[in-house]
Amino acid sequence: MQSPAINKAMEILQELRSVSEGNDAIEVKLNKIVKMIAEQMSADAAACYITIGGNRLVLFAAYQMNPEAVDKVIFRFGEGLTGEVAQNSRTLSVADAWSHPKFVHKPELGEENYKSYIGVPLIRWHRSIGVLALQSKEIHEYSAMDVEILETVAMVLSEIVSSDEMSDWRKNFDKNSNINERDKLKGLSLSKGYGMGVAVVHRRRQVVTKIFAEDKEKELHRLEIAFGQMNADLDKKLAEAKLGMGEHVDILDAYRMFAGDKGWYKKLSNNIQSGLTAEAAVERAYEDMWNRLSGTTDIYLKERLHDLRDVSDRLSSYLSGDYGSIKGGDAKDIIVVAQTMGPADLMDYDYTKIRGLIIEDGTPTMHVAIVAKALNIPVVAKIKGIFSEVKTGELIAIDGTDGYVYVHPSTLVQEKIRAKIAEKERLQAKLAELKELPAQTKDGVNINLYLNVGLAFDLDYIESTNCDGIGLYRTEIPFMASEMMPDVDRQISYYQELMDKCGNKKVIFRSLDVGSDKLLPYWGNVGEENPAIGWRSIRITLDRRAILRKQIRAFLRAAAGKELNVMFPMITNLSEFEEAKETLLLELEKEKRKSDKIPSKVNVGLMIEVPSVIFQLDSLLKQADFISIGTNDLAQFIFACDRGNPRLTERYDVLSAPFLNVMNEIIIKADQHHVYCSVCGEMASNPIEAMALIGLGYRNLSMSGSSFGRVKSMVRSINVEEVADYVHNLLKSNKKTLRPQLISYAYDHGIEIY
Ligand code: PEP
Ligand code: MG
Repeated sequence: MQSPAINKAMEILQELRSVSEGNDAIEVKLNKIVKMIAEQMSADAAACYITIGGNRLVLFAAYQMNPEAVDKVIFRFGEGLTGEVAQNSRTLSVADAWSHPKFVHKPELGEENYKSYIGVPLIRWHRSIGVLALQSKEIHEYSAMDVEILETVAMVLSEIVSSDEMSDWRKNFDKNSNINERDKLKGLSLSKGYGMGVAVVHRRRQVVTKIFAEDKEKELHRLEIAFGQMNADLDKKLAEAKLGMGEHVDILDAYRMFAGDKGWYKKLSNNIQSGLTAEAAVERAYEDMWNRLSGTTDIYLKERLHDLRDVSDRLSSYLSGDYGSIKGGDAKDIIVVAQTMGPADLMDYDYTKIRGLIIEDGTPTMHVAIVAKALNIPVVAKIKGIFSEVKTGELIAIDGTDGYVYVHPSTLVQEKIRAKIAEKERLQAKLAELKELPAQTKDGVNINLYLNVGLAFDLDYIESTNCDGIGLYRTEIPFMASEMMPDVDRQISYYQELMDKCGNKKVIFRSLDVGSDKLLPYWGNVGEENPAIGWRSIRITLDRRAILRKQIRAFLRAAAGKELNVMFPMITNLSEFEEAKETLLLELEKEKRKSDKIPSKVNVGLMIEVPSVIFQLDSLLKQADFISIGTNDLAQFIFACDRGNPRLTERYDVLSAPFLNVMNEIIIKADQHHVYCSVCGEMASNPIEAMALIGLGYRNLSMSGSSFGRVKSMVRSINVEEVADYVHNLLKSNKKTLRPQLISYAYDHGIEIY
C-alpha cells in the first residue's frame, strides 16, 4: 500500500506529465500546471517563480493572480515569504500570510483577498531554482500531508524548470546574468596555476524523472546491484590511481568509507519501501539530510553534506547505467566545471587532461581542492551562476593564481594565458637546469635556500629543487585536511615521511598554527570578531596543552636518532617562549626515561611575527637556538593591515623603509648573538624582496616550491656587496615604497627577477 500522500502526489504527477509532454511553449505549460495544482490542492491561487541571476525570483506563471504581474514582479532571495522560501530552500506554510513578520505586500500581484500561504522550493543541486506558491482565501493551516504532496510534486516541477528551454528564457530575461557576456569572472583561488581547455560540466544531466516505484522488489534489487558495483569500482579506481602519499589519500579513504556506509544504505531501502524509485530514494535521503544540516555553521558538517551530495550523484549514475566511462570525450585539454565535487570525482576523468577545475560552491578546505592541488590542477571557486550557465564544449581559460575564469576568452586573453603556461614550463625547464648548481652569488656568497611545505605535493619539490632543507613545515595543513584530529601515531607518520624524504637535510617543524584563517573542520569556529589577533596559534596550544604535548611527542619520536628543530609561532613575549620551550623539554625528559629512541639533538626556536618580541630580542636570542621571521604576519601587525584583505594589498609595502628597518634590526641582533636566523614568510619567495633581504644580510631563506627556481636565479645573478650598499642607503628613504628603485636597480645590474 502506498501512503495517501504518495497516492495524491501520483495523481497530480500523472496530469503534470501529460501537460509537460504537450507541444505548448514553456510559459503556457507552466500556467496550465499551476492551475492544475491549485485545483487539485483546493487552493484559490497559485504561482510559480523562477530564479534569475542566482538571487532573485521572477513571477513566471500564475493562476488567479494579476496576469499583468507575470515577468514583472520580482522578489529578492530573503524578501517576503517567497524570498524566504528560496533563501532557505525550505517549505514555508503560514495560516495568515498578512500577519507574518516576513510578509511583503506587492500590490501588482493582486493577492489582497488571500490569507493562507504555502511556498515550496524547487531545488536543483541544493539550490533554489524557483518557488511554487499556493494561496487561499481562508485562514488555514496546511497539513503535513499537503506538505509532503507538494514537496514530491516540486521534485518533478524542478525538472521542468531546469530544462534547456527554461534556461534560454532565463538568459533572455536577464541579460546581465548571461555569463557569456561577462568575459572575466572573479572567484576564489584554491589552487594556483594557469590552464585552458574545453568545459566539461560535471554531472549536469543527472535528473530524477521517475519518482514512484511500480515494483518495490525490483527497485530494491537495482539499489543493491548499483551500491555494490559503485563500491567495487571505487575500490579499484582508488587503488589504481597514482596518488603517492599524503593527506589527500586519507581524504579519499574516508570518502570510500562514506560511500559504503550501511546506515545510508538502510535509509535508501526504507525510502524505497515507502513507494519511491531507487533514484528518488537517493534524492529524498539527501534532501532529508540537507533539511537538517543546511542551516549549520559547522564547517565539518557542511563538508559531510558535500560528501553526501557527491556519493548520491555517484550512486544515481550507477542506477541509470551512466557510469564507468572516462569523461571528457576526445578533448586533449579539459576544464571541469562543477557545482560541487567530491574528492573521488576527479578520478572519473583522465586527470592528466584536466587543465583546471571550477567549483561554484567551493571552500578552501574542500577536499577536492586538496586532491586537485596534489595533482597540480589550478582551481577557482565561488563564481555564482557558472555551473548553470556554462555548457560542455565551451572554451574556458582559468587563472588559478589570481582567481579568474574567462568564458569564451578573447584572443588576447588566450594569448596571455598561453604565455603564462609557457612561462611556467620555461621556468620549470630552467629550474631543472639550475638544480645541480649552487645557490651562490656572483661574489661567492652562499645563500641557503629552503622550502616551505605543508601539503603532500610540496614534498615533491624536495627532490626537484635540490633545496637545503625545509625552513618551515606548516604542520597545521595535514591537520586541516584530516577528518579528525590526527593522533600521535598518525602525526608521526606525517613527520617521518618528511624526514625520510629530506635525508640529512635540515627540517624545521612549526608547532600547530591554527586559528585566524586556518580553521580545523572538526573544531567549531570560536566566532571572534578579530580572529587574526585573537585566540590562535601558540595561544591555543598553550591553553590546550595536551594538544601541544602530543604534537611534541610525535616530533620527538619521528626524529629519533636525528636532529630535531621545533619552532613556536606567534610568540608575543619572552615568558610565552619560555613556557612553550619548557613544555618541549619536559616531554623530552619523559621520552628519555621511556626509550632510547630520541633525537640526537634538539633545537628550539620561535617565529618572529608579533612586533612586541622585537623589543625583547636580546633576551630571546639568549634562550632561542634559532629564529625565523614570518613576514606575512609581521607585516600585517607592523602596518596594522589585514593580510587577507584585497583592498589593502597594494597599500603598504614590505619594500619600504619602516619594514626594511625592522628586518635590519632583527638580522643585526641575530648576528650579534650568533643565532641562526631565516625568513620563511612570503618575502623570501619573491625574487625582488629576497634580493633586498640578502642586501640586509640574510643568508637563510625559506620559500614555496613554485618560487624556488626564480629565487635561485636571482641569487646567482647578484653581487652581495653592491646590493648591500644599495639597500642600506635606502633605509633612510621617506618614500611610500622602494619597490620601483629596487626593480630598476635589478634591471640595471642584470639581476634576474622574473
Ligand atoms: C608568516 O606569517 O609569515 C608565516 C610564515 O606563517 P603563516 O603564513 O603560516 O601564517
Ligand atoms: Mg604566520
